[in-house]
Amino acid sequence: MNSASIPFLDLVTPHQQLKDELVKVFEQALETAGFIGGPMLASFEQEFGRFCGTRNCVGVGSGTDAVRFALIAAGVNPGDVVVTVPNTFIATTEAISQAGAIPDFVDVDERTYNLDPEQLQKYLQVQCSVDGTTGRVYQRRLGKPVTAVVPVHLYGQPVDMDRIKDIADRFGLLVVEDACQAHGAEYYSRKEKAWKRAGSMGKVAAFSFYPGKNLGACGEGGAVTTDDDEIARKVRMLRDHGQSRKYYHDIEGYNGRLDAIQAGILRAKLQHLAEWNERRRQAADRYWQLFGSADGAEFPPYEPEWCKPVYHLYVIRVPERDRLLKSLAELKIGTGIHYPIPLHLQKAYGGVGYKPGDFPTTEKAASEILSLPMFPELTAEQQARVVGTVLELVAKCRGQKTPAVASHSE
Ligand SMILES: *Cc1c(COP(=O)(O)O)cnc(C)c1O
Repeated sequence: MNSASIPFLDLVTPHQQLKDELVKVFEQALETAGFIGGPMLASFEQEFGRFCGTRNCVGVGSGTDAVRFALIAAGVNPGDVVVTVPNTFIATTEAISQAGAIPDFVDVDERTYNLDPEQLQKYLQVQCSVDGTTGRVYQRRLGKPVTAVVPVHLYGQPVDMDRIKDIADRFGLLVVEDACQAHGAEYYSRKEKAWKRAGSMGKVAAFSFYPGKNLGACGEGGAVTTDDDEIARKVRMLRDHGQSRKYYHDIEGYNGRLDAIQAGILRAKLQHLAEWNERRRQAADRYWQLFGSADGAEFPPYEPEWCKPVYHLYVIRVPERDRLLKSLAELKIGTGIHYPIPLHLQKAYGGVGYKPGDFPTTEKAASEILSLPMFPELTAEQQARVVGTVLELVAKCRGQKTPAVASHSE
């Protein structure tokens, strides 16, 4: 038992369990040759929109498409500055650039690793100025208008949206949620005195159905959710070559559709999403207890009382991370780092002029964060071994007495 490997993620079991249902989707598509569009797509859009609590949901080809189409449809123009965090997957900033805009960064909160409202406010006050005649906010270094902010609900934990929306309102910015890791995550709006789902709080939001996400396709997929009918209409055009009807191209668009087979598969899996998320939350509670009962209260992630995260990732923080990583791999315990190199220090953004030290909270986190195994089927025994091993390795690194847990040789 102790030497069995513990995967970081198990994508096989849920698909085996749903095999008959998923095969049926494929058979249905073969019978009708309805591969693009059609009733499976329409039903999934309706059901996922309902799940998120939005009037509209538009299936697209990927999460990257979803962020890009959401930005364009909401009215971000080429040359605009769009603000996000350096601690996210590069798809967030790729989508901003592909919309013709310029990504710019503000640092994250030290405990949630999400967009820090204080930093956003400081950025807008210190690095930007308001044009006296238009009232628009200009980024002084870039000489361009700031028109949108993209909060990323990273690891499945909602951003403090009340505060972000307050600031965005004051400075006239659009709010476009990157909910690609947060299907079903909930946020308690103190302002509206109501629980809201990720994807229903900004002007528009983007989801990814990449296989490893909490709701994943058997391939690529994404969706845009919004209460704004006009934005939804534009996204429908953008995903399909700018057509308002067949061969009437009102604008130039993209090939960015969600195919019918993936939509059918997502529909079948959506039935289980709430339960899978609940099991992830239970696994997070067990991790919390295991770490808490040991002398390591510093390890578990911080969960503000105003949110119910869905633990797409379970991220702990350890200064000895790099030494730990190697030993855990040798012991066949799957881990990950999300993300090891902050975006502003990536080669892709080398010409932009950022340097180490520009976003200290993100940079420090990047050297210490460690994602532990997290998936709905994770067992209590597996978690006990993960935590026991982590605590043992950390104690060893710190030259402390090793707690009585699974032994191994280094
Ligand atoms: C996965 C992800 C994306 C991109 O989704 P794809 O479907 O892979 O294009 C965007 N943003 C974040 C935060 C993600 O985790």
